[in-house]
Formats: sequence, structure tokens, C-alpha cells
Amino acid sequence: MKIKSIETFNKGCLCMVRVRTDDGAEGIGQTAPFNANISAIVLHQQIAHHALGADPSDLDTIADRWIEAEYKFPWSYVCRAVGGVETALWDLKGKLEGKSVCEMLGGKPRPFPAYGSSMSRQIKPEDEAERLARLRDSHGYTAFKIRIGKVCGHDEDQWPGRTEAIVPAVRKAIGDDVRLLVDANSCYTAPRAIEVGKMLEDNGVCHFEEPCPYWELEWTAQVAEALEQLDVAGGEQDVDLAQWQRMVNMNAVDIVQPDVCYVGGMARSMRVAAMAAEAGKQCVPHSSNLSLVTVFSLHLLGAIPNAAPHLEYGIEDVPWTDNLFTPALDVHDGKVMIPDGPGWGVTMNPEWLESAEHKISEVG
Ligand SMILES: [Mg+2]
Repeated sequence: MKIKSIETFNKGCLCMVRVRTDDGAEGIGQTAPFNANISAIVLHQQIAHHALGADPSDLDTIADRWIEAEYKFPWSYVCRAVGGVETALWDLKGKLEGKSVCEMLGGKPRPFPAYGSSMSRQIKPEDEAERLARLRDSHGYTAFKIRIGKVCGHDEDQWPGRTEAIVPAVRKAIGDDVRLLVDANSCYTAPRAIEVGKMLEDNGVCHFEEPCPYWELEWTAQVAEALEQLDVAGGEQDVDLAQWQRMVNMNAVDIVQPDVCYVGGMARSMRVAAMAAEAGKQCVPHSSNLSLVTVFSLHLLGAIPNAAPHLEYGIEDVPWTDNLFTPALDVHDGKVMIPDGPGWGVTMNPEWLESAEHKISEVG
């Protein structure tokens, strides 16, 4: 069996990928959202010629080999393009074997608890508190994540006092039984992160994500060391597996958060999860929108022994992920079903594919 064609379907923030083999098998994958048109160009120009004619069955190392082959262009777009093809190959393999990806990885499809993930820093503390309490009641969420500080903020807040106001306001509104996670998106220096972290601990926050600029691993390790009552989480931007191993070895984070689409696909994400398991750390993949990345994360969480208790599930109204595939993801009693059909267990909406910009690379 050989890879015969690779197609991209690009529309707005998204680029879906379809791979077909010479014996007619096919699978669907996705590159990371945003600037997806650029990922599509990289896919056809730099990755397709490695993939076409290749045996698609060796999923353990195929992504590594393509990334290595493009070693003059490390990481970001190359990994995104590789991830698009690699995730399509998992779907293809699952369909051939009649198993979900979760089952192929040794797990079992089941409802998996989700945390409602807020993406908004513009929202006022009282509005966020009211919104999350409402979602707790309507969907049964048992955990939420909110945004604190400012993105790459050099210790500044979105506006003065927002962080100190939103954390207790949300805690009070959702009650003590609901887990509260926060994401600082690279905001703080280590001393300031530790100061903020003490306030988070006082409010029963369990997960402090990306407290410092993500590349400042020593700072992040200092924060993890200083704060004992909460877990420091991070790694969504990290795509280099050697760097991942260093992060784990130095205890920069307590919880690892690979993004399946940034890191170059499922096999590489599974490897990050395994590094964490070896060190006694939990894993929760980064999945901040309801495109296929959340489906990939669900299958991964269903299969690993060190899954964090909750999947990241975006709660914002994101029109570009509407009507993308069936069955659509949905939260019931605070849980999302890991799709149990073959491969990813979802079918792309044909109208969406037809409306997207189509490009194909094929053998010959
Ligand atoms: Mg984050």
C-alpha cells in the first residue's frame, strides 16, 4: 500500500487534509488552525514529495522522518503540515482496521470529562463569573479555565486589577466543588508569577498554565518549584521532542500540554505523553477550538494512562468550526464522547469540503 494523493481543503482558519492510497483507502486529517493557507503551501511544496509513494503504515516514525528531511526549516509550519498528513494517516489506518484511533492506541471510547475553556481577556470579571456558573448549570461542567494577565504581558494585566478580581469572582460563582484552571499565556516574570500563584492557591486554583514566557524554561521551573498546592502546566507551543525531554527532566512543568496539530501529529504527541508518564506527570493536550484538534485530543486522552482529569473544550462562539463534521462534539453532564467509529470516528461535512479551496498533489 502506497500513498497516492494528498489533498488540502483550505477555508479561512482551517486546512483539512485527505490522503488516499493506491488501493483506494482514505483518511481525513487537519493542520493546525490559523494561517492554514500557508500550512497548505508548505504541505504541497515541502512535505508531499516525501509522503507520496511512501508506505503509510509506519506511523511511529513517519512524521519524524519528514521533519528531519526538512531540517533546514525547523518546526512551526513544517510540523503543522506534517501533522495534517499524519493525522489523516491515523484515520486511514483506523478505517482499514475497523477501529477508532483511541482503540488502536490501547484505549476505549467513552464519555470523557471536559473543562470549559474561556478564551476571552476582554470579558469583565462579573460577566465571566455569571457565564461560567450558567454553563455549569446547563452543561454540567465540573471544571473551567479562565485567562489571567496579558498575553506576553511583561507582568502587565489586561487592565489594572483584572486578575485579582476575576479569580475570586469566578471561584465564588462556580463554587468550591468545580475545578478552576487559569492560563497566563506567557505573561509573567518568575517573581511576579510566584506572587500571583500564591493568590491562585488561596482561591483553590489547581492548574497555572504558561505562567512565564514559554521559552523561559528556567523561570517556569522556578514557579513550579515555588508553588506546591497547584500544578504548573505548559508546552502547547513546544514542538521539538528533545526540548520536551529537557522540560520534563528539569521539572519546568507538572502537566504537559502538547498540541497534536502543532507538534506534528499523534505519534509525536503520544511520545510527549509517554515522557510525562515516565516522570509521573499528567498530560492534557492543547485543544482550544472545536475543529478536529479536539477530536484528536479526545482519542489521545482516552488512550494514555496519565491523562489529566479533563479535556480542554472551547466555550467561545467560533463560527468557523460550525458544521464542520458529524457527529458534532457536545457536552453532556460535563463530558464529551470520544467518537467510537473507525479512525477519528467523524465524517467531514461534504458541503464544507466543496466550499473550500482545493489543491492536490499526487503520484505521477
Ligand atoms: Mg494555553
